[in-house]
Amino acid sequence: MLRTHTCGQLRLTDVNTTTTLCGWVQTVRDKGGVLWVDLRDRYGITQLLLEDGQTDPELFAIARSLGREFVLQATGTVIERKSRNPNLPTGDVEIKVTSMTILNAAKTPPFLIDDETDGGDDLRLKYRYLDLRRGAVRRNLELRHRMAQQTRLYMDGQDFIEVETPVLIKSTPEGARDFVVPSRMNPGEFYALPQSPQTFKQLLMVSGFDRYYQIVKCFRDEDLRADRQPEFTQIDCEMSFVEQEDILTMFEGLVRHLFRAVKGIDLAEVPRMTYADAMRRYGSDKPDTRFGMEFVELTDLAQGKGFSVFDSAQLVVGINAPGCAHYTRKQLDELTEWLKRPQIGAKGLIYVRYNEDGSLKSSVDKFYSESDLKAWVERFSNGEPCKPGDLMLIVSGEAGKARKQLNELRLEMGSRLGLRNPNTFSSLWVLDFPLLEFGEAENRWFAMHHPFTSPKPEDIPLLDSDPGAVRANAYDMVINGTEVGGGSIRIFNRALQARMFSILGFSEEDAKAQFGFLMDAFEYGAPPHGGIAFGFDRLCSLFGGADSIRDFIAFPKNNSGRDVMIDSPSAISDAQLTELSIATTVS
Ligand code: ASP
Repeated sequence: MLRTHTCGQLRLTDVNTTTTLCGWVQTVRDKGGVLWVDLRDRYGITQLLLEDGQTDPELFAIARSLGREFVLQATGTVIERKSRNPNLPTGDVEIKVTSMTILNAAKTPPFLIDDETDGGDDLRLKYRYLDLRRGAVRRNLELRHRMAQQTRLYMDGQDFIEVETPVLIKSTPEGARDFVVPSRMNPGEFYALPQSPQTFKQLLMVSGFDRYYQIVKCFRDEDLRADRQPEFTQIDCEMSFVEQEDILTMFEGLVRHLFRAVKGIDLAEVPRMTYADAMRRYGSDKPDTRFGMEFVELTDLAQGKGFSVFDSAQLVVGINAPGCAHYTRKQLDELTEWLKRPQIGAKGLIYVRYNEDGSLKSSVDKFYSESDLKAWVERFSNGEPCKPGDLMLIVSGEAGKARKQLNELRLEMGSRLGLRNPNTFSSLWVLDFPLLEFGEAENRWFAMHHPFTSPKPEDIPLLDSDPGAVRANAYDMVINGTEVGGGSIRIFNRALQARMFSILGFSEEDAKAQFGFLMDAFEYGAPPHGGIAFGFDRLCSLFGGADSIRDFIAFPKNNSGRDVMIDSPSAISDAQLTELSIATTVS
């Protein structure tokens, strides 16, 4: 080894030890007679000391030639520091240098290698290998490592076996576009990269593996957002001979284990809510339950008083923003404009101020008397308290749209009121999702989770008469308003699977061509089975208290799906295209 210790290791108890350290030069402070070098590696920072009359003048010359990020080896004696640095674990000691070798020079990095950096996103991604030297990013990857280790520990302890499934497969519909790979040996044919190992894990259950998991890369060609990457990692799991309850218990166990082992937090038992309740109470299938502000429906109270906007609405629904009655007209106008942006698309926002003196003032006073508004307050008070000083914010319209808009407003108000602390964790199981949703544009039914999800047995009779009302044996785990995992109990019977494909608009031939292998397998003794997959990057970012998953991935893509460091995707040569039987571009 080129070193005896790391830069994070030495303490007062090591005084008088001779040590050799290797690392990168963080800073050089030259006071003439005394010179300090801060040497950094993955483990920390240690201060090197050179002193006139004590240190060989040649070493001073070497030290004065050092630039930021030079790679240095230094040997010396550990001594107690005169002025200690309580902010550094190694801050009680320094190294009185006796020899020093520059292992490699470095160009000046394009941004500061420090927790607080001056580099913008693009620059940091282009030089990601330098960005990864920063403690802030490194700590995220260390957290990710611990999450993976603890996941494996828990799963292994529960008799799950980790099995690798192929990456060059055939498309599995999970609702996104596939990335495809041309096959040279089979001209004109393509592999698809897995959106998830869904069909393989089900086949492993047919094989009798009973409990499978895999920390696995998945690929989806979707438009990117802050929390999405074209390739991402899942903790993918499947179990045989189980019902929904068994899956919920097993994987609530995993999440609680991770919180305990990685964050030292005892997560409360994960509460449960049906999809229907989540939509009614929060207008979202992934409600942020760190705070209340639940929806209050006012339709019956608000209609029939001459206000045509409410009279023509399917739903009038509001939230109570505690302590916000002081909002000025300007603030309310700004909030209304925010809600009217095309991304949200509300027509308007009605408010009722519950003033400190108990009086009520609404933006629709013309239509509603004080006693009308009192009835609203009473309705609001049915759940959480609604008190003087509060502000009621109300939207209306088609029920689905109004709920969606109010969900956005609720989250925004939660943020403004500081109720969404990233270091507070509130988890939730959302259950009983609809099996199907109707695609207006395509004029057909789509599987809400995926086509392998089973309907609740008691709802099977509705499959023909009222497909939209059929509930699925499907569940999501939501933490702080983020869907961190989702899964279902699967269909394991050929006839039901074939019926499902037919409801989804597949012809018998198409279903056979695409999923014949799975339906065939179901005829060779398929056990009842079900599973779940957690978004691993997302789970890591949540544990790290961050919004974006990017900083928890060593080499992520940017918002256009590009890796700007290796410059990918990129064109390939005409020779490669010809070899792949892909028509070359004509110029
Ligand atoms: N394959 C599903 C997904 O990726 C998860 C599951 O049903 O287990 O969302």
